Amino acid sequence: MSEEPTHRQPEEALRRAERRATEAEARLESLQALRAELGHVHLRYTLPDGRITEISSAAEQLFGITAQRVLARRQCIHELLRAGDPECFDQLWWDICRGLVPTSTELRLSLDGGEERWILLAQRAVRDAGGALVAVEGLARDITATRRATAALFEEKEQLLTTLEAIADGVIATDASGRITLMNPEAERLTGWAWPDAEGRLLHEIYTVQDEHEPCLDLVQQVISSGEAVNPGGGGLLVRPDGSQRLLDELAAPIRDAEGSIIGVVLVFRDETAQRRVEEQTLRSQKLEALAVLAGGIAHDFNNILTGVMGNVSLALLQLPAQGPVPERLREAERALTRAKGLTQQLLTFARGGSPVTRAVPIAELVEESVAFALAGSDVGCQLDLPDDLWTVEVDDAQISRVLQNLVLNAEEAMPEGGTIRLRVTNRTMGLGNDHSLVQGRYVRICVTDHGVGIDPEQLPRIFEPYFTTKESGSGLGLSVCYSIVNRHRGALVVESEPGVGTTFFVYLPAAAEVVEEPREVLPDALSGTGRVLVMDDEAMVRDVASAMLAHLGYEPVTVADGAAAVELYSREAEAGRPFDVVLMDLTIPGGMGGQEAVRWLLSMDPYARCIVSSGYSDDPVMADHRAWGFRGVMRKPYRVDDLARALQAVLAEPPNDRCEE
Ligand code: ADP
Ligand code: MG
Repeated sequence: MSEEPTHRQPEEALRRAERRATEAEARLESLQALRAELGHVHLRYTLPDGRITEISSAAEQLFGITAQRVLARRQCIHELLRAGDPECFDQLWWDICRGLVPTSTELRLSLDGGEERWILLAQRAVRDAGGALVAVEGLARDITATRRATAALFEEKEQLLTTLEAIADGVIATDASGRITLMNPEAERLTGWAWPDAEGRLLHEIYTVQDEHEPCLDLVQQVISSGEAVNPGGGGLLVRPDGSQRLLDELAAPIRDAEGSIIGVVLVFRDETAQRRVEEQTLRSQKLEALAVLAGGIAHDFNNILTGVMGNVSLALLQLPAQGPVPERLREAERALTRAKGLTQQLLTFARGGSPVTRAVPIAELVEESVAFALAGSDVGCQLDLPDDLWTVEVDDAQISRVLQNLVLNAEEAMPEGGTIRLRVTNRTMGLGNDHSLVQGRYVRICVTDHGVGIDPEQLPRIFEPYFTTKESGSGLGLSVCYSIVNRHRGALVVESEPGVGTTFFVYLPAAAEVVEEPREVLPDALSGTGRVLVMDDEAMVRDVASAMLAHLGYEPVTVADGAAAVELYSREAEAGRPFDVVLMDLTIPGGMGGQEAVRWLLSMDPYARCIVSSGYSDDPVMADHRAWGFRGVMRKPYRVDDLARALQAVLAEPPNDRCEE
């Protein structure tokens, strides 16, 4: 207080003080009115009892009780604030009692009618001259609406996060500077980055996408500068921290705030690796199919040429003396031709798959030949275990040879350090309900054992799948071909393997009904026969050699180029009293009537017609089951003189009234 001159009246000073006090009070009142306008409630309570000594008139809107009642009832702060959340209030009270008055507290109130309300309470300590806490001054305000809005926002965000977690696409959001603000689990999985490590990093640090050759432009920059969604068109390659790569399809779009300015970028991406693999596989099998058609076409023509060469060579051999340098050369040529025949058979099998043309085959010879062929020039040795009493098998020798070659090749490849492959063949009688779902009966089992790398148990179920390979330059087709061939033979292919120890493949093949001793060396005399034979083939070379062979054997050959001509000539000659004894027909005649249709015509005219089908397509259903189509015999091209002689003798030996089923 400033010092007054002593001559002044003391009343004047008093009046001035009073005026100031009135002014201050008025100011306080108007301030409180303004606060009330904002819904702020001022209060003051003493300590340690918490009795409320002052509370503004706006109290009723906030606490549901008038200021007068609070003061008249001498209520404590507990009675006003504790009911909504006792635990929270007790914590607050405990802090205050320890002299720590929090500046701002959010509290939940529960009003008399059960209504719930949230308040923000700002408080200040009031201390006496000695510094002791004597009272608390507070200002409370209703924040229920804000709390509810925040809760709604939180819920929305939770929903968004749950959705992001559930979707199968990777999602990453960044702020406008490209720093990562959000990432879903799929994005973590695809990029190989965990969220805590990725948070706050620049997008390109964790998302390194390369187009086939050059690194992709920065997506965030692209989106921000264009202000539009960007779809780089797919095919980007994401390189992960471990060096592995995933093929992606991606889309980036801007995130805008309420005013429309870009505040970030969201990136959605999908793993296309599997899809691409399927597409590649489809493409590969289409290529293979095209290759098969090509190979089949070449093999078919080549086979006809081979028929001409083989027929002439075998004929020449019969017409020459058995000894001497020329027959020796010819026999050498014949051996080479046998190999060429095997090759075309493989090509034709590859081209058409198809059912095997089975005949009784001595298994030991087949095994020996196949192994020798597969291991030619190899360091790996082979131990053969072939008992003398093995049953003859009922198989397509070309196809089974292929199975054995594939198995032996795999065994050899499994032993890069070299070693010995063991082949053991045994007779097995399989009972009902055997382990390999084989029909009850007699089988020959071939075991191919190596001491190689073995097969991982996880990969074992997949090795028969086409294209499954663990080799750098493997095709993955070997075993799938083996499997389908053995299956078509009504046999079984089984594997046992132990990594690091070795592998054994077991091939079960059905035994022939009875042991057929095939005459290997046939005396020329025994080959001859008589009768008129009609030969139908579109290839002049085949017709010529067949005629020559037939004439040599003592038959009377007549040739035609297609099925229609054969049918016409057959009926004409029959009417003229010169019927044909046997008709030898090609199966496929490009642009003309083939053997399959011709045989139906012939049988309709003459139910006893004896027809033999001859084709290079050993897998054709007609070849596999010729009797069902009306043929009495079958002959695979190319054939030698003795093949032809035997086929003719067999059909001629059948009683004529032994009709074929149609
Ligand atoms: P490819 O030989 O071209 O890989 P295959 O179909 O012949 O295709 O074989 C498929 C896979 O099976 C091989 O890549 C290899 O992993 C496994 N496999 C086959 N035979 C053996 C074996 N004798 N020892 C170890 N693994 C083998
Ligand atoms: Mg293989």
